[in-house]
Amino acid sequence: MCIFCKIARGEERAYVIYEGEKVVAFLDINPLSKGHTLIVPKDHYENYIEIPLDVSMEIHDAIKRVCEKLKIFNPAGFNIVANVGRKAGQVIMHAHVHVIPRYDREESRPIEFGKSIEVDLDEVYRELTC
Ligand code: AMP
Ligand code: ZN
Repeated sequence: MCIFCKIARGEERAYVIYEGEKVVAFLDINPLSKGHTLIVPKDHYENYIEIPLDVSMEIHDAIKRVCEKLKIFNPAGFNIVANVGRKAGQVIMHAHVHVIPRYDREESRPIEFGKSIEVDLDEVYRELTC
């Protein structure tokens, strides 16, 4: 079973910040910015375009809820990104959407995958869930 299936079933630890009937959202372990969150369907689909419409509607709802939560960090914007296929940078072959808050202190440029930041995830999680 893949790592995101295990997280969705509660069999692998993750900083879960939102859960719906068919989706779960948790902090990315290699965040590109403070609050970087992944939203994944609980069922296994290989990539974003494989997700059935009813599930993707819940994912869209979760994206909006997660963005609302992340507003406590005062972001200036968000990147909402799905990497589909290895050539496009997809590493985990379980569909997911990245929600990446962007901040005034950063340069205005497209997000670059692979450039993670140092951040205390325990602290980020505490701030988002208390
Ligand atoms: P992608 O390149 O779109 O497949 O992104 C996969 C993301 O999953 C990367 O940003 C990883 O840092 C993240 N990731 C991998 N394993 C875990 C995990 N166990 N918990 C949280 N995030 C993870
Ligand atoms: Zn899976």
